[in-house]
Amino acid sequence: MPELPEVEITARLLDRALNGARIESALAPGINALKTYDPPLSALEGERVQAIRRRGKHLLVEVSSDLVLLIHLMSAGRLQLFDKRAGPRDRTSRLLVRLDAGRELRLREFGSKQAAWVKLLRAEQLAVEPALEKLGAEALPVPADLDELLDEQRPLHALLRDQRTIAGIGRSWVDEILWSAMLSPFKRGSDLDEDERERLARAIEQTLEGALAHYEQVVRIPIPDKLPMPLRVHRHEGEPCPRCQTTLKSVHFEDYVIAYCPHCQTEGRVLKDRRLSRLLK
Ligand SMILES: [Zn+2]
Repeated sequence: MPELPEVEITARLLDRALNGARIESALAPGINALKTYDPPLSALEGERVQAIRRRGKHLLVEVSSDLVLLIHLMSAGRLQLFDKRAGPRDRTSRLLVRLDAGRELRLREFGSKQAAWVKLLRAEQLAVEPALEKLGAEALPVPADLDELLDEQRPLHALLRDQRTIAGIGRSWVDEILWSAMLSPFKRGSDLDEDERERLARAIEQTLEGALAHYEQVVRIPIPDKLPMPLRVHRHEGEPCPRCQTTLKSVHFEDYVIAYCPHCQTEGRVLKDRRLSRLLK
């Protein structure tokens, strides 16, 4: 599940490795991956990579002649650099960018769903690109107006994951952030007091920066298929809370499984499965 820390480390490592690299050709073997047709991928031939950066959970590969590859990894995509070309049996690649020195940048996707996507845009199209236009402020550095952004009667779990509210946080890191801030996933943004708002801002910063610092230490090119995510709460239900040793619980909410500590986050209450309780009404 690539979120801000995973996409950011990908952008940083690739940016360092590929600055100035010459593109020989590009093709999109995934039938559904490429969402644009003008300019064609052949426009990339002979161009050089200028920068690779992140916006929200998107990657932007900026190329010398004002062309930009906009990539969304969705839930199972990876952007990986290899020093060899993919073989004919390669079934995971959705986009191949062939580079000088025999290197190849591949958008690969694991699992049965083909959801990751690519757009080849001209730089001026970026400003009106719908996928970017509706994104909220970056989660890092924590926006100065976080209090206002979160002043909504929606549960924190939904608010923090909403890319239009704040960009970069998804289903994994939201659990870690709320656990770190000692806040219930169902607490409404507008109900936070000053102390809780401060805790939440600090938790966003420390959690995301901590993950990035971890990746800077352990991740190298080629970026592995599975990143070593330093999660302590998400998907750890049934295990002891790292802070108080209470058994971590989980609850279904919309399409998500939320992990939390009943002692640290919900005043001892075990949350009811909202999906189920709605069905039973
Ligand atoms: Zn706890």
